[in-house]
Amino acid sequence: MPSIGLFGGTFDPIHNGHLHIARSFADELDLESVILLPAGDPYHKTTPRTAAHHRLAMAEIAAQADSRLAVSDCDIVRQGATYTHDTVQIFHQHFPAAELWLLIGMDSLLQLHTWHRWQNLVRQCRIAAAPRPGSSLAQAPAPLQNWLAEALPQGRLHILQAEPLPISSSQIRQQLATQHTSPDIPPEVLGYIRQHQLYCHTGA
Ligand code: ATP
Repeated sequence: MPSIGLFGGTFDPIHNGHLHIARSFADELDLESVILLPAGDPYHKTTPRTAAHHRLAMAEIAAQADSRLAVSDCDIVRQGATYTHDTVQIFHQHFPAAELWLLIGMDSLLQLHTWHRWQNLVRQCRIAAAPRPGSSLAQAPAPLQNWLAEALPQGRLHILQAEPLPISSSQIRQQLATQHTSPDIPPEVLGYIRQHQLYCHTGA
């Protein structure tokens, strides 16, 4: 049975931390492909973000670095709230014979109990969590404890061996606004950012 990895994120912008965990995800779980899913523009319009078409384009550029990486606009073209639960259902319909894995960072894993229909979500796919500086499984809140106690021994939750990298999109937006460069994004993505004059202002 082929295994496909799904990796959702704001990717504002996509960075070397994302690419590092996506590659580890494919390596450790022997995935046929890892599909990057940039989030859509927020339907409630409270969180400013770089326009979805730019975040999608940057993800497509970054994905060229590894033939196992692909990009889908599934979460961009959908109207209204785009819940991961629904995204996984859509991929199940498209790839009924595939086993689906969902990649999230450890900080996201610690919030999983707040996600829409999370208990159903974790029955629909397996979860891989990537180590991230500042977040550890020991901090898992009470609502996740029962699931963790079952999912870890059953292999439905896998903690990646990837080295934690202290890289975040928010830190990169700051670097780009103040220094107009960042060592933590691929040069081709930096080229796109410069061409389209993105992240020129602090707080952008
Ligand atoms: P921001 O700084 O704006 O919060 P971010 O760097 O966390 O952004 P997102 O696009 O929100 O980037 O992240 C998408 C997913 O990738 C999330 O599950 C997040 O936990 C994970 N992730 C991002 N950066 C890292 C990293 N350096 N190590 C491990 N996981 C990461």
